[in-house]
Amino acid sequence: MTYLTVPISPRCFEDCLEQALQAVCAGAQMIELRSDYLENLSAEMVRKLVKQLKADCDVPLLITCRDKEEGGSQKYPLGIRAAVLAAAVDCGADLIDFEYRNFGHSDSREKLLVALANRPKARLILSAHNFEGRFENIGQLYRKMTGAYSAAIPKLVYMANHINDCFEAFDLLARTGGERIVLCMGQAGVCTRILAGKLGTFLTFASLSAANSTAAGQVSVEEMKKIYNFDSINEETEVYGVIGSPVGHSISPAIHNVCFGAAGLNKVYLPLLVDGGLNEFSAFMQHVLDRKRLGFKGFSVTIPHKQNAIVFVRKQSGVVEPLAERIGAANTVLIDADGRLAAYNTDYRGAMDAILEGLKVNTKKLAKMNVAVVGAGGVARAIAAGLVEAKAGVKIYNRTAEKAKDLAAEFGCGWAGLDESKHIDADLLINCTSVGMSPNVDAMPVSVNCLNSDMAVFDTIYNPAKTLLLKEAENYGAKTISGLEMFVGQAAEQFKLFTGQSADKAKMRKVVCDCLGVE
Ligand code: NAP
Repeated sequence: MTYLTVPISPRCFEDCLEQALQAVCAGAQMIELRSDYLENLSAEMVRKLVKQLKADCDVPLLITCRDKEEGGSQKYPLGIRAAVLAAAVDCGADLIDFEYRNFGHSDSREKLLVALANRPKARLILSAHNFEGRFENIGQLYRKMTGAYSAAIPKLVYMANHINDCFEAFDLLARTGGERIVLCMGQAGVCTRILAGKLGTFLTFASLSAANSTAAGQVSVEEMKKIYNFDSINEETEVYGVIGSPVGHSISPAIHNVCFGAAGLNKVYLPLLVDGGLNEFSAFMQHVLDRKRLGFKGFSVTIPHKQNAIVFVRKQSGVVEPLAERIGAANTVLIDADGRLAAYNTDYRGAMDAILEGLKVNTKKLAKMNVAVVGAGGVARAIAAGLVEAKAGVKIYNRTAEKAKDLAAEFGCGWAGLDESKHIDADLLINCTSVGMSPNVDAMPVSVNCLNSDMAVFDTIYNPAKTLLLKEAENYGAKTISGLEMFVGQAAEQFKLFTGQSADKAKMRKVVCDCLGVE
């Protein structure tokens, strides 16, 4: 079992009890009392607290009194910290955490070992932290830590400055067995925290709330349980995720995890922050391919890696779906049981479905329509490709006219600069720019004068769900389609690729609406 451990960082006795009860109610399977946050700390105070917490909370109790040099809150002397931990053991704490580098101080070590000898059920975690980056030699450090006191649980936590730094932690876990804790800090290290249950780490940390986090990259206990279905993650769990930069605010983990859970599938979907360009993306993918045991099966791919995905899959002799090849971008990559790759683009499918369903037309009718595509970036590319394939008449308008011209030449359609958008005469206008996206919700990509009641307007922006463009189009009596439909559509197509099952679109739409705070 991997204990979902919630650190609490109270300043006083009353705060401590309140936070501990909150943690238990939120689903903590272990509480870590960070006693270094307490004001006027003393062994006596911790004795009282431990007794009270043991009486009130029915989960294992870990007491830590962190050295300021290793991230502690206050500069309590080593003697006091060792006395606090010894008192905690004495009064019933299940575990104590002490820094490996201070374990060399004979007085403190003796104090702790005597306390532990008197209560053999209590356990010692020997910990090492590096807040800057990777340890110089993590394997050697692990051996030294286990050699220092074999009954201790070694805990090695370091900052992942890039997601590719996490693979060293995964490898150490794979090479070692028994009780040990290996985690990475930072947004790039989030995957190590969520996958702890799959990789057999003794415990993982989750914060009481975003505001109460005691280390960078800690996910809240509520997110761990409700979004990542932490309690269901085990050795067999298959792993998916969204690769991009940034990914911190992506709604995709919420959507896919809810749908995996509802379908009873043993799969988890993670935010995978892959900074950098093709080299970093390729290194990440290669790390994954080299470690089948990690169970990665598929990815959503977002900015800035949609083109890198195509390049990498091609280089690995994988299969690239023809339209994704034509678009030059993939937003979905699958890994089969033999490690072979396949790349797809579900953005255009999501967009085409949104158009067909929104306008209640079939592709035959779409072929007779004139469509103005505003923008010439990645989404415009995907949508233009889909529309041209459906044989619709397409004209691309873009701020940088040269880009509109190039895209039009590639797909054999018309083009114009955005300054000509006031003369747009189309059955369907599609905004593929970021103009009007939160927080700049008062902006419009085209002049309001080009709108009319015979026109349909599709805005690919999904945050906000109703942009100023859509509001104005409604005022003119035009039919409107929100980017939310495209977003749900592309996610539904990905779900089908990930699972072979149809997605529950209504459920997906509800998750998106809940995340965006819309009805
Ligand atoms: P992109 O490749 O960066 O392209 C951005 C486009 O917006 C370019 O054509 C750019 O014109 C134009 N643009 C940016 N700022 C502008 C401004 N101030 N005035 C006029 N034009 C401006 O981005 P993308 O990946 O295509 O994404 C575009 C939008 O699509 C996103 O913002 C997002 O809202 C939406 N989207 C929706 C979904 C969905 O599922 N619903 C999925 C992905 C994206 P220049 O060429 O002149 O720079």
